Amino acid sequence: MKKLYINGEWCEGTAVTTTRSPSDLSDTVDEYASAGKDEAERAIAAAHAAAPAWGLAGVQQRADALDAIGTEILARKTELGALLAREEGKTLPEAIGEAARAGAIFKFFAQEALRVRGDKLASVRPNLDVDITREPVGVVGIIAPWNFPIAIPAWKIAPALAYGNTVVFKPADLVPGCGWALADIISRSGLPAGVFNLAMGPGRIVGEALTTDTRVNAVSFTGSTATGERVLMACAKRRAKVQLEMGGKNPLVVLADADLDVAVNAAIQGAFYSTGQRCTASSRLIVDESIYSRFIDAMTAKLATLKVGHALEQGIDIGPVVDSSQLEQDLSYIEIAKAEGARLAFGGERLKRATEGYFLNPALFVDCEPGMRHVREEIFGPVASVLPARGYEHALALANDTEYGLTAGICTTSLKHATHFKRNARAGMVMVNVPTAGVDYHVPFGGTKGSSYGSREQGSAAVEFFTTMKTAYTLA
Ligand code: NAD
Repeated sequence: MKKLYINGEWCEGTAVTTTRSPSDLSDTVDEYASAGKDEAERAIAAAHAAAPAWGLAGVQQRADALDAIGTEILARKTELGALLAREEGKTLPEAIGEAARAGAIFKFFAQEALRVRGDKLASVRPNLDVDITREPVGVVGIIAPWNFPIAIPAWKIAPALAYGNTVVFKPADLVPGCGWALADIISRSGLPAGVFNLAMGPGRIVGEALTTDTRVNAVSFTGSTATGERVLMACAKRRAKVQLEMGGKNPLVVLADADLDVAVNAAIQGAFYSTGQRCTASSRLIVDESIYSRFIDAMTAKLATLKVGHALEQGIDIGPVVDSSQLEQDLSYIEIAKAEGARLAFGGERLKRATEGYFLNPALFVDCEPGMRHVREEIFGPVASVLPARGYEHALALANDTEYGLTAGICTTSLKHATHFKRNARAGMVMVNVPTAGVDYHVPFGGTKGSSYGSREQGSAAVEFFTTMKTAYTLA
């Protein structure tokens, strides 16, 4: 059984959970200790006790630990990727790519730890020095989703540690194995006891402990909008710092002048890769009516060539849906879309494979209208809706007609439209002629409207959330 990691020791929880591969329900991945209230409390207490000394530790010590973690992740990316593919269902190349990205993130923040900048201003009063410095926030609770079970924890844990905070990390309930593997590597990096703690367990117990305990100074959350709102309320009540990355219903606009191959590639990758289980997925395809039929023909022809199957098999394009309740959600939205009058141009049925798993043929709905539920609500599966647009202005209006604002994409060869779209799409990240899903590891990540709350994640922007500013006045 894989254990919890609290105050530098591996320990048991109050329960044990077992995970199965969504590609093969007869494949038991492992058994994991699950924290109850007591273990969550002990993990928070350990992080709280370790915070003062770690906050004062030299940045070289922090940088060395992060670099060692990054090195080990990169050296073991194939093994970690195989675990990820087995546990979550992402295809092996995607999963190895995610593990490599996590390694690169730790290496990046090893360097960033050495670059924390302050400022010095002339005072408006005589004989005064004004210094602005950044200090650690203290104890950070990290609550992660299942869909990027290595990269998302990495882009939260690495900056938290780099800037001198201590951490209690709660992986998503469906993917304790990836969280444990990351913690196992972190446990060997020379960090003092209590600086990093792993508390696998249910959201309602461990997650709520992290959002309500006054010793946790900041909470970095990624997950659904509904849970994000609960986290926000709990943190607001006790005025804890909070950062939320939540759902998306991202548009990809295809204009009449788009290169069709580029557009189809962007739409297929953006909507269906990772089984559509990405917050950045372009599940709304907004296509100019003059190329509408050609685009749909090209999409269905391409979809017919994709291989859906066991995530660890060679040559698979799309792995399984993560679990039975996500599969039920996908299938129920497919029925909703049909009942709403959208036309199913491709897929949408459950597939049988050599192993029993949650395989779903990607679904492409066409002739959709902006008010339909399946067009407005996040499905989080391989289901995309195509909406016809009457020219650029109409396409832009449709793209922005959503309560979410994570990514927005456009395929066009017009510099004028690309530039206008970059300025006017209401999303945190805009992609021109590339899939909306797929982001660099060293640049800011986040959205607007219902997709995000608080300061940006990743890259140099992460310093905002994981530090607090101090202004000091000194009589010269
Ligand atoms: P989820 O909201 O069900 O769970 C997220 C995390 O919150 C899990 O660790 C869960 O255990 C925990 N949790 C559950 N109840 C809690 C509570 N009451 N208090 C505190 N924590 C609690 O989300 P999920 O199903 O794991 O992930 C899918 C969602 O995540 C999708 O909506 C997707 O769009 C979103 N997501 C967003 C981004 C982004 O960067 N915007 C990235 C990835 C995923």
